[in-house]
Amino acid sequence: MSKYIVALDAGTTSIRAMLYGIAERRFLDTAQQEVQQSFPQNGWVEQDADEIYYKAAYVLNRCISGVGAENVVGIGLANQRETVVLWNRDTGEPIAPAIVWQCRRTDEFCASVPREMRDRIAEKTGLPVDAYFSASKIRWMLDHVPAARALMQAGKLCAGTVDTYLIYKLTGEFVTDHTNASRTMLFNIHTLAWDEELLAYFGIPREILPEVKPCTSVMGYLRSGGSTIPIAGVAGDQQAALFGQACLGEGDSKITYGTGLFLLFNTGKACVTSRSGLITTIGYSLGEKVVYALEGSVFNAGSCVQWLRDGLGLLSTSAESEQLATSVPDTGGVRFVPAFTGLGAPYWNGEARGLLSGITRGTTKAHIVRAVLESIAFSAKELSDCMQRDSGIVFHEVKCDGGASANNFLMQFQADVLGISVNRPAERESTALGAAFLCGIALGLFGEVDIASFRASERVFAPVGDRSQHEKWYGEYRKAVERALMK
Ligand code: ADP
Repeated sequence: MSKYIVALDAGTTSIRAMLYGIAERRFLDTAQQEVQQSFPQNGWVEQDADEIYYKAAYVLNRCISGVGAENVVGIGLANQRETVVLWNRDTGEPIAPAIVWQCRRTDEFCASVPREMRDRIAEKTGLPVDAYFSASKIRWMLDHVPAARALMQAGKLCAGTVDTYLIYKLTGEFVTDHTNASRTMLFNIHTLAWDEELLAYFGIPREILPEVKPCTSVMGYLRSGGSTIPIAGVAGDQQAALFGQACLGEGDSKITYGTGLFLLFNTGKACVTSRSGLITTIGYSLGEKVVYALEGSVFNAGSCVQWLRDGLGLLSTSAESEQLATSVPDTGGVRFVPAFTGLGAPYWNGEARGLLSGITRGTTKAHIVRAVLESIAFSAKELSDCMQRDSGIVFHEVKCDGGASANNFLMQFQADVLGISVNRPAERESTALGAAFLCGIALGLFGEVDIASFRASERVFAPVGDRSQHEKWYGEYRKAVERALMK
């Protein structure tokens, strides 16, 4: 009888369970549910943790019941990171809406953190002080949610990220993994423990936080029908994608081209501190073995293509951008800077806004579409330059995934701009694949060495373009960025 792993990918906008056939080495079935976000005030983003749990349980059940619980050997979990839930330890009920990673309500608090403390935090956690991470969100909830203090005094308050909440509801265990913990701004990524100094600074008692375990741990057991299924193998979504892409060696990297763009770069045992505003994070941990990564994010990537389609009406589908971009030999001098919501790494400028430059009477929509796609590749190039400078490790190839990685023009242009190959996998659900692989390792079904052989390439884009030409275009893009940064 065939055996299966179910990978649960609890993303920000949707939750998906995917059935991985161990013998088949691929996904065989999937169930998905959208999840709502609410925006109660300017810059605030919330979700209903109950809805996240019910939808996760629903999609899990759909996948498991299709093959019978007795044939599912384990569940791997990948999740949206940094989002915070507070709940009652006795009932498992959330006591307030979850504060989502995008939420900016703690901007002011973060801006008030003194210089010296920022340096301590960066040194210990690898993170810049920002409302994006969990610590200030938990602090805010302790201060503003009426039930929080009384529950805390009674020893009945739990705080955790989405992985922790789901595992608690599904199994009763109060745990998280190294990668999710490394995004809270409370976890010391060198000692692999909650940091007493940071807990004291944020006023968060250790008792309300979960136990932290390696990604390949058995976290708890889900009872389904007459069977118990281990939840084993957990990582934050971007880290899971790094693992799913088999980026297991120092210098291996992946770029996810979704709404935003995420570049993760495996730095091996070295916990590299960035001088360029990149994040140092735990890439994954296999038992005792901890692998670090540098991470850079660009807020707008695929969303720029959406804007061409829905905002400007230049495209009827996102995919049409490929054909339009290749219908012209270049952008005709047009440059685009994707700064709709400011610029992320390496600029960290929230006030910058998008820019379209170099327009002439001869500019066509094809030039504009091409300039937008080229800007996505250039922003990845900026990140990769920083990473190589910070780490002294050279990129040799980059694996790609995410919706916009379907665009052949973009992938070829990316290879030309980086001067290295861009490798597109046959299975583009890298996040779910990473969760399935971590689960397989946790259960002793596969070894780390097997993972590389499980990943198949669909297409490798080798750099072919004229290097000097691409350097010149990149220079034009950088000039446009400078203009976007001008007040
Ligand atoms: P997310 O997980 O962030 O929601 P996805 O990985 O599903 O995003 O990717 C969706 C994004 O990819 C959208 O912004 C869409 O415009 C873009 N996209 C999808 N297909 C293409 C394509 N062929 N060319 C360019 N962009 C694309």
